[in-house]
Amino acid sequence: MDKHTFRFAPSPTGYLHIGNARTALWNALLARRMGGTFILRFDDTDTERSRPEYAQGILDDLAWLGIPPDRIERQSDRAARYAAVLEDFKARGLVYPAYETAEELDRKRKRQQARGLPPVYDRAALALSDTDRASLEAEGRKPHWRFKLSGQTVTWHDGVRGECHIETASLSDPILARADGQVLYTFASVIDDADFGITDVLRGEDHVANTAVQIELFRALRVNLPRFAHHNLIASATGEEMSKRTGALSLRSFRADRVDPLAVAIVATLTGTSEAIRPLHGLEELSSLLELPKFSRALTKFDPAEIADLSVKLLHAKPYAEIAPKLAAMGIMGAKAESFWAAIHGNVARLEDAEPWWQIITGPQNFVSTEPEFLAEAARLLPEEPFDHETWGRWIAALQAATGRKGKALFMPLRLALTGREQGPELRAVLPLLGRAEALARLGQGPRRAPAA
Ligand code: GLU
Repeated sequence: MDKHTFRFAPSPTGYLHIGNARTALWNALLARRMGGTFILRFDDTDTERSRPEYAQGILDDLAWLGIPPDRIERQSDRAARYAAVLEDFKARGLVYPAYETAEELDRKRKRQQARGLPPVYDRAALALSDTDRASLEAEGRKPHWRFKLSGQTVTWHDGVRGECHIETASLSDPILARADGQVLYTFASVIDDADFGITDVLRGEDHVANTAVQIELFRALRVNLPRFAHHNLIASATGEEMSKRTGALSLRSFRADRVDPLAVAIVATLTGTSEAIRPLHGLEELSSLLELPKFSRALTKFDPAEIADLSVKLLHAKPYAEIAPKLAAMGIMGAKAESFWAAIHGNVARLEDAEPWWQIITGPQNFVSTEPEFLAEAARLLPEEPFDHETWGRWIAALQAATGRKGKALFMPLRLALTGREQGPELRAVLPLLGRAEALARLGQGPRRAPAA
């Protein structure tokens, strides 16, 4: 059997959003699991809307997700090849010249719709005689080229949708090349898939009708068909439209929010499938879950908040060894670093949020205290070192007995004096990090360290 070759074929006309990422991830991860190849193909024949910065953005986004392509191709490099195939199709009578302008075609469609007919091209150009064509060209008109569909039923076994049948008689003969010579997506795509030995075409179900046309083109090229699969589409539950153009729900917006790329990958890949969205160890584990029949058939909504939630869960589940180098890069290192992370990790949504806590706990602090007498009593009852996770409980029990305070009235002044915040990590974990001398200083008893200049 052929080595599996998958491709992801975005047009570089904007940044990738979650829906695009889903197609990219499925292709890349299936290729990886099957020991195959993952090709990134830029569908950049639309020279007005394609931009090099978008192509670069797509590459950056794929790298950020952890699925850099094995090979990159650009349709803009292949114009000569497409032109040669078009000449061959002309010679074999597979295409015919048509001269209607965009406005004329539009008028035809409107007339058909008014009469309740499907807006299918009427093949008027097929009936033109040589003389008709000569006079149209004498008017200065240049032809575009349409591929003559067989009019028969095209059948394929879709990896997601099962047996598919499409009557090509219900479709317009596709335009392969415009009057200015520019080839259109369907034609370029099929030539590329054939030339690059693509074995698996996995894309969104918005391409199902294209597949019937493309199968006829593959046959015209006299090559083997790839396997086809069309996955369901996803939409944002918040009603935000995914658009390459507006950047809504773009990968770079998640990147800017410093979300874990694995969280984006898991949500993008598993939404709309029978697999539950949950923390996984990495792309390897994610790829082991992928089977085409797991796609549901309906449009699926997803809530972007799921990505943020999962990102937090992944952070909390990470082993310290994985976190340590990243903390060190933020200056969080030394003997206390590991117990610091253990103390605060439940209170941070992003790794970066650890930094202010490190300042709070290890930096010189001078928090304003409102209850000096209570704090003086607390300082008097503070146990001797060594401090461990039991120290806080003993301290608080003694303080409760001495003052009669309970609950918030008991611990909130301590939390404010020790950390300067009303909320944060458990004080039983914070206390050993501070140590006795620093705790006393923060309770207003003992020398305060001068803040670093
Ligand atoms: N450029 C097309 C798109 O982004 C590619 C579709 C395909 O995978 O063939 O929709």
